[in-house]
Amino acid sequence: MTHDRNNHDDHAAEQDGPGDVLARLRAMQAGDVPVTGGRTLAYVYDSGLEEVDRVGREAVAAYAGSNGLDPTAFPSLLAMENELVGFTCDLLDAPEGTVGTVTSGGTESVLLAVQGARDSRPDVDRPRMVLPSTAHPAFHKAAHYFGVEVVTVAVGADFRARPAATAAAIDDRTVLVVASAPSYAHGVVDPVGRIAAAAAARGVRCHVDACIGGWVLPYAARLGRDVPPWTFAVPGVTSISVDLHKYAYAPKGTSVLLHRDAALRRPQYFTSARWPGYTMLNSTMQSTRSGGPLAGAWAVVRQVGDAGYLDLTRTLLGAVDRLAEGIGAIEGLHVVASPDASLVALGTDGSCDVFTLTDAMTRAGWLVQPQLSYDAMPPTLHLSPSAATAPHVEELLTDLADAVLAARRAGAVAVDPGVADLVRALDPAALSDDDFDGLLAAAGMDAAAGGDLPESMAEVNALLDLASPALREALLGRFLERLQQPVRAVASTPVHPPR
Ligand SMILES: *Cc1c(COP(=O)(O)O)cnc(C)c1O
Repeated sequence: MTHDRNNHDDHAAEQDGPGDVLARLRAMQAGDVPVTGGRTLAYVYDSGLEEVDRVGREAVAAYAGSNGLDPTAFPSLLAMENELVGFTCDLLDAPEGTVGTVTSGGTESVLLAVQGARDSRPDVDRPRMVLPSTAHPAFHKAAHYFGVEVVTVAVGADFRARPAATAAAIDDRTVLVVASAPSYAHGVVDPVGRIAAAAAARGVRCHVDACIGGWVLPYAARLGRDVPPWTFAVPGVTSISVDLHKYAYAPKGTSVLLHRDAALRRPQYFTSARWPGYTMLNSTMQSTRSGGPLAGAWAVVRQVGDAGYLDLTRTLLGAVDRLAEGIGAIEGLHVVASPDASLVALGTDGSCDVFTLTDAMTRAGWLVQPQLSYDAMPPTLHLSPSAATAPHVEELLTDLADAVLAARRAGAVAVDPGVADLVRALDPAALSDDDFDGLLAAAGMDAAAGGDLPESMAEVNALLDLASPALREALLGRFLERLQQPVRAVASTPVHPPR
């Protein structure tokens, strides 16, 4: 967690004039992290091109009320989707016959890839999928939603999936094998060729999750960089996901899921004629589907164009090279894996810790993302720079160097031993409200402290770092539950008085 902002507004739904409403909206938004400017190094991706942003925003607004539910009523949406899918096919070496769908985001693309793989194998009773330990949590979400069992294969010392171990993990129940291009946490591309070959040898689908790298790697290759093969040029790759709302710099809400042929996509379609209303006909998980994101993505991709993306990628990767080099030169820091795409994960030596460093960077006006230790992999700091970060790289490096000095002066973040014991004793399966309240109080995040996130997140992150993955999930779920509370104008009364 990186945020130190928390906005409260008493009444979201009073009758104000349009000017008041929009002024209020802008005032609320001022408390969020900036989505442009290149200093937010996770969650947002900024081309740095004002005209591109403007065109994207206006297209979203123009199509906010359009509904992709019925392509015959909104033929322009179908046309835009087919053009975006075609552009993506060209980018990803897709053979004749490749088809695709625009979805609402990477998670939906992944969910559909897993659902399609499961439903293509009705003969398999208890389906499984084989994932590298670095695969995105969207696959675990798909497993949870669709009842597919996850078989995790630990990555190697280079943070890449291990092909031999992956092949060995495939069995008669396997419906899908996954590789990342690149993985989010460490920014390295898995050996897609050997993994896809192993899947194909067993007649199993292979999905390449290029949600974050799919728009960068093809241009990187064209710029003459060394990019390991990962597209449809690799035999055995059956589907690929690539997000438009990441490095295609489109407004939020679009990703593309490609399948090598129409038969592979077919289980994704859901149609229902089992009611007296319209026959429902869906290619994604949504039914009513705003035309806004699709139009926004179409407009941005048209506006930037192939040559524009080549330029943006040149700028971006130049910044990434300089960043990696500069980080290597800061005593106490190192790049965890040489970036295959645009993502940088950095680690610290014993002289300072990642979580204190994160806070120092937040104070300097950067959003960087701490990554907790996992499966023998130490905690790291994640940076997803954008093209818009390029002009600020020297400042970023200077601030990182200063942050290291500050973190050293502050000393390693210390979790109170009593609190650490409390955490270790908690059972994630039986976490009570009292347990959670006790922990919040111990972490200085209780109601007495205003209920807001504390100024320093280092202690909170260090505390989470001590917790098992299951406990992290339970604690953060509870945390989100506390955040998501209705703002009501009328005081609520309990329907059932407490006994
Ligand atoms: C971002 C990402 C996803 C999930 O995408 P959302 O758009 O956040 O739903 C999946 N895989 C990878 C590798 C990603 O980086």
